[in-house]
This record gives sequence, structure tokens and C-alpha cells, in this order.
Amino acid sequence: MSSALHRLRPSRRSNEALDAPLNQVEEGAMIGAAATKLEELFDILRIDHRNDHNTRDTPRRVARMLVEELMAGRYAEPPEITEFDNVQRFNELIVIGPITLRSTCAHHLMPIYGEAYIGVLPAADGKIIGLSKYDRIVEHFGARLQIQEELVRQIGEFIFARTAPQGLAVRISAVHMCRTQRGVRGSHQGRMVTSAYFGSLADDPARKEEFLRECLALGKAP
Ligand SMILES: [Zn+2]
Repeated sequence: MSSALHRLRPSRRSNEALDAPLNQVEEGAMIGAAATKLEELFDILRIDHRNDHNTRDTPRRVARMLVEELMAGRYAEPPEITEFDNVQRFNELIVIGPITLRSTCAHHLMPIYGEAYIGVLPAADGKIIGLSKYDRIVEHFGARLQIQEELVRQIGEFIFARTAPQGLAVRISAVHMCRTQRGVRGSHQGRMVTSAYFGSLADDPARKEEFLRECLALGKAP
């Protein structure tokens, strides 16, 4: 094993980041090694990727897709967050969404897609972050092999730690293609909804209700 790959040990859970982001050399080594293994897999599945014009470059393409896109949130830095002081001491609920969610299921390596909603109850002396950053954060944690229950918590814990709001809510409504393309072959309308609450929102039924109402209204907005 090359020394560049060696640094990647010890292994991590599928939705945990490495201790340090990969540099370009390490990323290239990982893609190369993964492509070799994918070629082996194609051989086992008896797909002639050496001669078949459809699959000739597929092992390398898939290796790149895994490292640079579908799992990039394990190998890259989390997004930089621009923080603003809460100068107006705004202390009402802010709800952002729908934010497009794309992820991959840790159990079957199938796509998960849907929407995320984030509710923030800012602290008077806390920080507010730029709106587009919420999309980036969802994208970052979605780019890992995930289960939805842990994904909502990871997104929430990251925002909570960086901005110290009074309260925070994260809700995801998503379709799991491991349920639509295999197994029960369920409906594409069938969704899974998970929510996670932090700070004062965890035990404030009225605010939770307000958050859910806003999510529903935003989901219906044109
Ligand atoms: Zn699955």
C-alpha cells in the first residue's frame, strides 16, 4: 500500500470525516486504488470493461464519483461559515428551506434525495450565518454514506457548535432509493421524515409547532 494511502488509517465510520482533509496527492492515490478494486469487481461480475465501450472507463469514473462527490464530505474541510453579530438582537424563529438534500444510503449505497429545513432561534449575543451557508452545510454532510437519523443530528450539531443559538431544529424529508428500486420497491412518493432539536427548541412544544408549520408552508410554496 502506498504511503499516501497509509495515512488514511485508522478507518472511520462511513459518515465520519477523517482527522485531516485529503491533499491532492492522497486524493489521487485513493481514486487510483479504488478504480483498481472496481475493475476487480467488474471482473467478478463478468463485465468486460476492457473491451465493452460502455463500461471501459466506468471503474475510474465511479471511483472519482465516490471520492470527489458522493463521499466528498468525509475528505474535504467543512464549509467556511461567515458569521454576523446579531446586532438587532433578533429573537424570533428563522426557518430556511426547502434546501435540496442529496445523500447516499450507508446500507445499500443507493441515493437519498429530498429536502432539508432548518429553524434557528438566534441568541441575542450569538451569531447569525449567511443564508447560502445552510445549503453548503447540508451538501457537506449529505456527501457521506448516511443514515437519515444521524444526518439530521450531524447538520444540527455543526450549526449549533458554530453559532450558539438559543434553539435549533433540523428536519429532513427524503426518498430512499433503496426502498424504491429494490426490496419492497415502494412508491417514489413514500418519504421518511426525521427531525432533531437542540437547545431551547428541544423542550418548547409551541416553537416546535411553529417550526413544523413553517416547514409545511415552505414545502408548498411555489
Ligand atoms: Zn438503504
